[in-house]
Amino acid sequence: MHNILLIQNDSAGAGALRDALTYSSDGSFRVLWVRRCAEGLRVLGRRKSAEKPHAARIAAILVDLFLPDSSGIETFDKLFQAMPEVPILVLTAPQDEPVAKSAVQRGAQEYFLKDRLDAYLWPKAVASMIERAANLESLYEAKDRAQVTLNSIGDAVLSTDMAGKVTYLNVVAESLTGWSQSEAAGHPLEEVFRIIDGASRSEARNPMSRAIQENKTLGLTPNCVLIRRDGTEFPVEDSAAPIHDRHGRVTGAVMVFHDVSVARATTLRMSYLAQHDGLTDLPNRMLLNDRLAEAMSLARRHQRRLAVLFLDVDRFKHINDSLGHVIGDRLLQSIAQRLLGCVRASDTVSRQGGDEFVILLSEIAHSTDASVCANKILEALRTPHRIDENGLHITASIGIVTYPDDGMDPETLMKHADFAMYDAKESGRDNYQWFKQELNLRAAKRRSLEDHIRHALERDEFSLHYQPKVSLATGRIVGVEALIRWLHPDLGFVPPDDFIPIAEACGLMVPIGRWVLAQACHQAQAWQDMGLPPIQVAVNISAVELHEKDFLKQVRIVLAETGLDPHLLELELTETFLMADSTSTSAALHELKRLGVKLALDDFGTGYSSLNHLKRFSIDTLKIDRSFVGSVTTNTGDASIVGAVIGMGKSLHMKVVAEGVETPEQLAFLQVHDCPFGQGYYFSRPLTGWNCGELLLRGTALGSRELQAS
Ligand code: C2E
Ligand code: CA
Ligand code: CA
Repeated sequence: MHNILLIQNDSAGAGALRDALTYSSDGSFRVLWVRRCAEGLRVLGRRKSAEKPHAARIAAILVDLFLPDSSGIETFDKLFQAMPEVPILVLTAPQDEPVAKSAVQRGAQEYFLKDRLDAYLWPKAVASMIERAANLESLYEAKDRAQVTLNSIGDAVLSTDMAGKVTYLNVVAESLTGWSQSEAAGHPLEEVFRIIDGASRSEARNPMSRAIQENKTLGLTPNCVLIRRDGTEFPVEDSAAPIHDRHGRVTGAVMVFHDVSVARATTLRMSYLAQHDGLTDLPNRMLLNDRLAEAMSLARRHQRRLAVLFLDVDRFKHINDSLGHVIGDRLLQSIAQRLLGCVRASDTVSRQGGDEFVILLSEIAHSTDASVCANKILEALRTPHRIDENGLHITASIGIVTYPDDGMDPETLMKHADFAMYDAKESGRDNYQWFKQELNLRAAKRRSLEDHIRHALERDEFSLHYQPKVSLATGRIVGVEALIRWLHPDLGFVPPDDFIPIAEACGLMVPIGRWVLAQACHQAQAWQDMGLPPIQVAVNISAVELHEKDFLKQVRIVLAETGLDPHLLELELTETFLMADSTSTSAALHELKRLGVKLALDDFGTGYSSLNHLKRFSIDTLKIDRSFVGSVTTNTGDASIVGAVIGMGKSLHMKVVAEGVETPEQLAFLQVHDCPFGQGYYFSRPLTGWNCGELLLRGTALGSRELQAS
């Protein structure tokens, strides 16, 4: 049942109309008739203000615009304003038709000439008007809903008609394109949605026309960049789909796209991170490999040469271990900066990890260009690096290879650069070396040496020699240092400096060290058993040994087995790993001290130990490195270092041993500076166990002549 509000002054017309509706065949209308506009408004107002909340709502208004209290379009306006959602049908006399028409333009549903419809047609006309209004209403509602939905999604939505003219833009599309819906409507898509290929910057093909042509949804245009109306550019990703009408015919296309600046920036950042070293921001190994391969193929094509410099910082581990990783890291950053300052923009400076850097000189005219660059780098690195309060002095070793001379593929080239760098290390560090074929041989030798070391233990090829430590005041032997010797049946005598680093690197140092420790303790105990006074034996320990979890256990077992007084065992450690701030090292050292074992710091002066560390680990003995002792009589700097170390050791209640004493002048210097102990060829070379026993029997390794001199 529809409530119809009829507003008409003319009683006859109104009565007829009311009757026609009320008594229509389907009986679906109830008519409320009023004569004046104000009354009509009151009826509407009542419903609206819920004065009669249960009063059925008005389905339609039939109004004659000419009423006693209001006439013309004004009547319509008042009603429409009061209740815009209720459809209004205007009843008019033929002469007032223009007014009725303007009412329709302002929102009225329809108008009828009052005397044209009869009792049969009126109900049908009103019913169909009500139905149409309801349909329209729900259509608007759906459209509104769609509109809200389209505006609330994060994606931009844009549609076109078949001709490629823009028909719709949602809010996001408006902001991304810089066109408002009303401005864009009717413009060709290419004008509103301008896209280019991000890489080539050429115009990108618009996916809409293809979606229409091929009648299917098209995926992303890769690497697409949208140019907004104001010229700003955004990377976008889009997809386009055809729009179909009810009958399945394509009527246009819709495109959904979104701004991928953030996503694309993240991807770029990720790939940047994957290709760069986090610490120095230099290209990493991966990126270098790419660049090298690229540079090699370019060089091949243009018949040019390129060079690779493999750089390793000398004794970096010392710095890192003794000054800490934070300083070590900053030093690496400083090195990276200096390296960048030495090359051209087209060259690549990369960090391989640790303290290794690789410099790719992508185009060189002569091989001397590479050595000029290497010299420049060595020079640049030598200037002290300011880090906090420290001025750190460092040097580096560089290996150089050129393409195509030293290798035809990146792997070989890099391997040979590495060999050349090792050669530079062996040639005394702080220099560069070119790759040469014999280095391949050397590397092969090294590999076979590994095999030989592996068998040396089983074949009993190792032995220990002992070098006395002497009191510089009395000449009395106060201890011996055990030094390993290796006599290989074919290779002959192989010096420890040659094979120990290899044994350490390939994991063989642990069993070898175990053997040394046991052998030295046995010898010390054997001398006592022979009737000699107890003598302290010093054993060199590699970092890899101390880090072995079984190390302490081994020491305990050996001491128990040999019965040697723990005080007679001294372990010689180098600064490198002593200063490594690892808790396991520190725990092991404290445990050793608890056992009664003595600790000596070997090669003192070559690392960066702080007094703090020395005290913390209760070091008993400082051994001044022989490089200083060797030049006390020729180099005043070294002389003052040695003097200072002697004084420092004394004040810290440590024993000080000068290593490598070779001449009476060196001895005299040490005696003048009151150095308590010495060791070196001047007193005795390392001796076999048997020969050393004989020397111990004498008890002294210093002639009376030298003692008199003191
Ligand atoms: P190091 O611990 O500094 O040992 C002293 C080295 O100086 C020995 O070399 C010794 O022969 C040499 N030397 C002693 N007096 C003089 C001298 O007056 N002048 C000169 N120029 N050299 C002198 P060696 O035996 O060749 O050992 C070299 C290094 O190998 C040792 O240096 C030590 O670091 C390592 N090493 C030797 N034996 C062992 C071992 O059993 N275990 C471990 N882990 N390392 C060992
Ligand atoms: Ca030593
Ligand atoms: Ca030493």
